[in-house]
Amino acid sequence: MNQLEEQLWNLQELKREEARFKKAEELKPWIKILKTLQVQIEAGEQQLEDLRKEIAKAEQKTTQLEQQATVLAAKFSESKKILQAASGSLKHLLMMQQALLTQEEQYQEAEKLHERMSRKIEENKLKRKKLQENIKMKKKEYNESLREYKKLKEQTGLKVAEVRKKLEEVKAQLEPQVLKHVEMAEKRFPLDFVAVLKNDTCTGCRISVSSALIHNLKTGKGLFHCDNCGRLLINWFE
Ligand SMILES: [Zn+2]
Repeated sequence: MNQLEEQLWNLQELKREEARFKKAEELKPWIKILKTLQVQIEAGEQQLEDLRKEIAKAEQKTTQLEQQATVLAAKFSESKKILQAASGSLKHLLMMQQALLTQEEQYQEAEKLHERMSRKIEENKLKRKKLQENIKMKKKEYNESLREYKKLKEQTGLKVAEVRKKLEEVKAQLEPQVLKHVEMAEKRFPLDFVAVLKNDTCTGCRISVSSALIHNLKTGKGLFHCDNCGRLLINWFE
């Protein structure tokens, strides 16, 4: 392998490296993680909002029940007083007593409902607390992943810049006509424009090349193309 062949081979290696970094495969898992976390956070925040509404509604209802219970209690004690002071027919007294019992039942029912609602509110508040903690954790995880992703992206960008610099250095060493041939071959075989002569065969198209070309490759110093596929052909350590 002469100097030109080595330069051509380097050029192809660098182009391949550049393509690898540009594809940024190592960034893809991070993008997926970030997206998943984002969806989870949004869903959690929606749940939190629903819970907040539910709690507010229940609290409003509880206040109403408290007022209702106060009114019922007042009515009950009033009726009780009236009954104690009442006189009249037995039928009338029994009716009053019945009304008193109904009022007491209504009061107890309101109290029970109030208790149930309060319990539900406590449960929902606990749920809300857990959800808030969960969202906080997810946000932390998101920020950490984002930092990691940005770091990796920056590193990849630096690597691409580094490879491009090397590429320019190699290109600067090549004659303009050589570069023209490289560009032509590159158009047809973007990351595979340099092939090697191995066992009298082109490694690009795997077809035997003419004996004249083999002779030229082994003795000459110029730039050669595979006479079959057109790739730049170099002689490998022979
Ligand atoms: Zn070929």
